[in-house]
Amino acid sequence: MTDDSPSDSSDQPSAATFTREQDARILRGLVEDEAALLKWMREHGHSARSVRARAALLGLTNQIVQQCRINGTWPSMRECLACEQRFLSTGSQHRLCRRCRQLS
Ligand SMILES: [Zn+2]
Repeated sequence: MTDDSPSDSSDQPSAATFTREQDARILRGLVEDEAALLKWMREHGHSARSVRARAALLGLTNQIVQQCRINGTWPSMRECLACEQRFLSTGSQHRLCRRCRQLS
């Protein structure tokens, strides 16, 4: 794999090659043990840069990471109870996407 190589001649769609299971692992891993996560991802062909890009695409921010660390929870993708869209949930009590929370 072209791990962390500066050349950007990639013909692979960088953000689209993660499974749902890997998404879940990324979201949890960045909160719990980033070094272990990035090591595992590297062994499975994903560079640290693509993992971080994926996390950002899923909506993960430093603020959410900090919040989860404080609360002892971790983020995950859930289906909104109202509109059934998948969204980034910050814990088991968080079941509505941002748009539906604003509407309710
Ligand atoms: Zn919703």
